[in-house]
Amino acid sequence: MRLVLVGPPGAGKGTQAGTLCERLGIPQVSTGDMLRAAQAGGELPEELARQMAQGGLLPDAVVLELIDARLSEPDCRAGFLLDGFPRTTAQARGLDDILRRHGGAIDAVVALEVPAEQLIDRAIHRRTDKRTGRIYHLKSDPPPPDAELLHRADDHEDVVRQRIAHYVSMTAELLPFYAARGVLRRVDGVGSVDAVAERIRAALS
Ligand code: AMP
Repeated sequence: MRLVLVGPPGAGKGTQAGTLCERLGIPQVSTGDMLRAAQAGGELPEELARQMAQGGLLPDAVVLELIDARLSEPDCRAGFLLDGFPRTTAQARGLDDILRRHGGAIDAVVALEVPAEQLIDRAIHRRTDKRTGRIYHLKSDPPPPDAELLHRADDHEDVVRQRIAHYVSMTAELLPFYAARGVLRRVDGVGSVDAVAERIRAALS
């Protein structure tokens, strides 16, 4: 299975990616993780590191080269799950070219759908216990009285709204691009982790 997973910030994409990869026995390929690893290893040119730090997208050619090299590795032969890539239709077309050379194509693009208001509700009520790392929801999964609570800076409402708007504009062309090929699978991302995982499984079968 050659998959792409997309979803707005806070939709549970990371959790579902982990479950899905484990179930299918395929690697999760995240351009963000690869770029951070390159940066940590001092292999990312300064100009690109600066663009990343400012939250801008890196040039398509840079990420396409990374993806090409990664998908050539043996563990990707039986499939992979792309996370954080493609982010533009130019990248999607570049991915097509790469996969054509490898003799394949994307089988499905899973788009997790969660209404913006729900994403905002989750984010503004999310707290992490500094001591244990456990995540709570102030209303639906309240922390114990002795927890040392942290509200992440990127979980504040204005930041969340901005990130959701960014996701919406990013996918405005990308999702129709894959829908036109009949590979887009829209999955309701509201519900328990298990319920969403089951919907993804059903959408892929
Ligand atoms: P992420 O963890 O996926 O949000 O990626 C972190 C940063 O890496 C992004 O803000 C971009 O600067 C860069 N990046 C990751 N994936 C891509 C991509 N597909 N295209 C361009 N830049 C990317």
